[in-house]
Amino acid sequence: MTPPAPPAPRPTATQDELPPIVLLGMPGAGKGTQAKRLIARYQIPHLSTGDMFREIVASGSDPGKRTRNTMQQGGLVDDDLVCAVVGERIQRPDCGNGYILDGFPRTLPQAEWFIRFLDERGHASRLIVIYLTVGYNDLYRRLLGRRSCPKCGRIYNDFTQRPRQAGVCDLDQSPLVQRKDDDPAVIRERLSAYEQQTLPLVNFFRRRGRLLQISGAEAVDRVSERIFAAVDRGIGVSGASRLEAID
Ligand code: AMP
Repeated sequence: MTPPAPPAPRPTATQDELPPIVLLGMPGAGKGTQAKRLIARYQIPHLSTGDMFREIVASGSDPGKRTRNTMQQGGLVDDDLVCAVVGERIQRPDCGNGYILDGFPRTLPQAEWFIRFLDERGHASRLIVIYLTVGYNDLYRRLLGRRSCPKCGRIYNDFTQRPRQAGVCDLDQSPLVQRKDDDPAVIRERLSAYEQQTLPLVNFFRRRGRLLQISGAEAVDRVSERIFAAVDRGIGVSGASRLEAID
């Protein structure tokens, strides 16, 4: 009897391959700013699943029709569809040397799928999940204090970025308005929904030693430095060391 053939060797990271990067954090924690800096430094694509699904809906395809209602009601798209779309996207050639995922994973089944996907390609131990944190009170104040000009769209904040004259736009003197979902009760609801969604993912990636937790209250440059240092350390390494940084 002939012995079974040995399993095919797993593809491993090449010399200069960048690790996959996931951004986790509340809007306002600085994800957008850090994504822009990562793109500029490493020239890698920024994949936002929210943008991908808006495109799918706009295309009018069958999955687009099914997704439209879910998105309009603020619900989550089916895990199977999300994973299929993300899997197809990150296998395109422009993701061959790293990518930034924004808005994915959002659920534990998505996170588990993603780790399996990376594992099959020898990348699971290189993943860097950047978790930008902002204290509950700061976030609450940031959202509660947010005001905007209905005419020119400029954003102000009663706590951090006041207009010269209270309640009036500096540029066109229009009275400033508050978004409906920046009302205290809705803010509390949004924050707790966010926590419910994100904390299981934070724990999932922390347990695997792939979480880099950084305070979004730190100076923007300092946050970038810490992210770049972790990414630089992960370049071309097939089994990166555990990430632990905590704010
Ligand atoms: P966003 O722009 O990230 O807020 O995403 C907009 C909408 O797209 C969400 O409200 C969801 O309906 C859908 N979506 C984006 N990413 C995901 C995901 N990872 N899982 C499920 N639904 C998602």
